[in-house]
Order: sequence, then C-alpha cells, then structure tokens
Amino acid sequence: MSVTTSRQRNYVAGEWVDAVEGDTQDVINPATGETIAQVPRGSQADVDRAVEAAKKAFEEWRETTPRERSEMLLKLADALDENADELARTETANVGKPQGVVEGEIPDSADNLRFFAGAARNLEGKAAGEYMRGYTSMVRREPVGVVGQVAPWNYPLMMAIWKIGPALAAGNTIVLKPSEQTPLTALLLARYASEILPPGVLNVITGDGEPVGAGIVRHPDVRMVSLTGDVATGKEVARAAAETLKRVHLELGGKAPVVVFDDADPAAVAEGIRVAGYWNSGQDCTAASRIVAGPKIYDKLLDELVPAVESLKVGDPAEGEEIEMGPVISKSQQERVFGFLERASGTKARVLTGGDSNGDRGFFVKPTVVVDVEQTDELVQKEVFGPVVTVQRFAEDDQAIAWANDVPYGLSASVWTRDVGRALNAARKLEFGAVWINDHIPIVSEMPHGGFKQSGYGKDMSMYSVEEYTLVKHVMAKID
Ligand code: NAD
Repeated sequence: MSVTTSRQRNYVAGEWVDAVEGDTQDVINPATGETIAQVPRGSQADVDRAVEAAKKAFEEWRETTPRERSEMLLKLADALDENADELARTETANVGKPQGVVEGEIPDSADNLRFFAGAARNLEGKAAGEYMRGYTSMVRREPVGVVGQVAPWNYPLMMAIWKIGPALAAGNTIVLKPSEQTPLTALLLARYASEILPPGVLNVITGDGEPVGAGIVRHPDVRMVSLTGDVATGKEVARAAAETLKRVHLELGGKAPVVVFDDADPAAVAEGIRVAGYWNSGQDCTAASRIVAGPKIYDKLLDELVPAVESLKVGDPAEGEEIEMGPVISKSQQERVFGFLERASGTKARVLTGGDSNGDRGFFVKPTVVVDVEQTDELVQKEVFGPVVTVQRFAEDDQAIAWANDVPYGLSASVWTRDVGRALNAARKLEFGAVWINDHIPIVSEMPHGGFKQSGYGKDMSMYSVEEYTLVKHVMAKID
C-alpha cells in the first residue's frame, strides 16, 4: 500500500469494501499537516455488517484447535516481520513516530503474536476430578464469541496486536476499530491476515468513536468489548455496555510517578526520564510524567535532567534516523498540551525548558520540564499526553508515596534507589498495575499490562489477557 493519498477500504467477511453509506475521511501526517490517505467513514450499518460477518465466522472458528490457531498466529507474526519496512513507513507517516521508535515496535508486535501462539496451547483451569462423591467436574475455557475491539492512536499497530492476539488465541472472532486518526497499519494488518485467517474471523472497520466505536459497544451480538483509550471514553463504554451486560476490558490513561529517593544516581534517573518521559512525544499511557524527588537529590537531578531533555533531537521523522522525537498526533492535541501549560502559567509553576512549538509546520511541542508545581495542580493530577514532565520535591519517604498515589490513575510507576528494601517497600505501597525499579517503560509479552483505579480493568499481554477473552464453564457429570 502506498501511504500517499491512497484510498483505503474496510475489511469485512474477507472482502475489501467501502463504507455502506459511501463516506470517507482524511488521514493526516502530523509532522507536515498533509493528507496521506482516505479511509471509509463508517456508520451503524458498517458495524452491523461486520458483526454479522464475525458472528457467522465464529461457528467454524470456535471449532479450530489451539494448534491450528497457534499456527495461524505464527504465520501472522512472520508476516509482520516480512512487511516490517512497509509497516514502519506507514506508522511513521501516520503517527509522526521517529524511525528508531517504530522500528522497535514491529519486532515487539511480532513477538507478542508468537507469545499468544504459544499461549493458545497453554490455557489452564482447575484439574478435572471428583469434588463431590459420585460426580466428575471439569472446567472448560471457552471463547466469548464476537469481540469488539477499539484502539487508540498512540501505538496503532501495537495496540491492535495486543487486542487481536489474545482474542484469536482464545477462539473469538473480532470486529476491530482503529482510531479514526491512525487507521492505516490496522488495515495493513488486515491485508496480511486476509491470506492467513478464514473470512470473517478478523474484520477491520474505520470511522469515528460515535457512531462506529459506540455502535460496536451497543450491538447486542457483541459479547465483549475491549477499549484502549481515554478515561472519559472508558466510562462511556462501561455505561453503554451495561445495557447488554457485555464483558468490558478497559486500558485507559495514566499519570505515572517517578519516585526518586536521595540515594539514587541522578545521571541514571535523568537518562531514564529522557527516554521514558518523551518516548512517542510523551503520548504513552505509561510515560514518566511526574517526578517526585527527594530533598537532597532534587537540585542535582534538575542539573542533569534539563540538559538531557534539551539534547533530544526533535523534528519530522522523515528528516532521518537521528530524529528522536516527532510531533504530537494532531493540531487539537497540540492545543490541548499548550492549554495545560497556559493554565499552569497562572500558578507558581515554572517552565525550565520547552513550553512552545518547533516552528509552524506540523504539530510539535518541545520537550518540556515544569517545576514548582503543587500536588493539587492540574498538571500533576491530569494526563497531558504530550512531552511535559513535572518535578516535585518531597520531604520524607511517606510523602513521596502519598503524592505518587494521590491521582485518579493507577497504570504504572517507577522507584529509583540503590536500597533494595526501600525499593521493594515502595513497590508494595504504590497503587499501580506495574512498578519498575531503577528503570521506567520496558515491557515484555509474558508480563501483564493494565491499570488499577481509573486506569481501567483487564490485562493486556501475558496469560492473564488470554484468560480475559475466555468464559469459564463448569461441566459436572453424575458418574454412579
Ligand atoms: P480516545 O478515548 O479518544 O479514543 C480511543 C478510541 O475510542 C478511538 O478509536 C475512538 O474512536 C474510540 N471512541 C471514542 N469515543 C467512543 C465511544 N463513545 N464509544 C466507543 N469508542 C469510542 O483515546 P485516544 O485519544 O485515541 O488515545 C489516547 C488515550 O489512550 C490516552 O488517554 C492514553 O492514556 C490511552 N492509552 C492507554 C493505554 C493503556 O494500555 N492503558 C495504551 C495506549 C493509550
């Protein structure tokens, strides 16, 4: 597929189709503001058609063995590797991701699929046996059925893989809706899958949250919906899903604290934040967005952090491999980030570096560090989803943990110290779904990713995510 003003179609029931009502919408390159493709702008009719296809395909797909599904997932993983260049080019043009960032995402996504290929063959339950005299009980783990999956724009391919991998491994069929801003790699994924999966097992439809995303959630034949997105969207989805009591899996926002104790190495922390605070332009639900530093290390840390952040090479990823940070996803996201900074300028907060854009082409925000913020400030409490990191100075360890926990989110956190007891104690007390010690951001296919509190519920990756996409059935037989 060319990513230059190409006209894309939806993938439904093994066919490439326009939107039922024929509408299209533009896809923009955020580094230049230029239109790079058109995709179908879906409506409820597109949802209905895709759900019907998934429902029909489920009848056969549920009969496949774990081995058969595993083999198809392995082929899909190979297809990602074989088409890595095309995927990387498309993701760079559609999301403004630096080449170095996206080049890591493709092999990681392939690895994720290979993990799920293995996981398909390793589901576990309680041992079959006689838990009541005269009866044999067994547990079956069955697919849920038609699963609706709604993805965000920050990691379009990776989020699609995190969703389809466990759902297919467990024997479900899928209606996937990528973000209206970044639909291109999900459509490429459908193209590779079209040569591997039976028609209707994976359907990809494009369009806005309302009516397409919401239409999937409302549909009575969709048995489960999984969303990665904003907390507000998660709440809407949970409310709407309650009407049909469908199962809900929500991976929502984050506001990850970086707890830096006085005995940490300031240069190592600064280097860690240079990566984890600004990776993907800070548009990462686990971004290292607020540093809570000890009284003695605070000044030394800022001395290391500010030059480290200023050394980030920002620009259009098309300029070359040396670009480390691209734009944010859209004009409205850029305005949203500047809105946070403008409101903060009316408080005691001070911008140490960044705070403005990189010229007037594309949607750039310079890597930004803000100090003198209060715990109750909007900049500390709310997810900015841009390259903005705040730094606070705590007085005692207990205050550090209290501040770290004092946000509505609970996705991820990190703690930096050379003292193993201090680190493990902090890891125990931090109310987040993932806690890193002396690092921030690495993830692996075998380990779960998912939030506490308003960061949502349900896990991605790992065996836990496959379990999310299964129903547990107890079969009990009278044997005498
Ligand atoms: P968003 O909530 O605006 O959109 C996410 C998806 O939901 C899009 O496909 C959108 O079209 C769809 N949508 C919007 N309204 C809907 C509705 N009423 N019903 C059904 N679907 C609807 O989020 P975004 O701006 O695309 O992504 C950024 C957010 O995603 C951030 O908050 C980020 O933290 C979060 N995120 C979380 C994780 C995680 O694993 N926890 C990972 C990546 C991104």
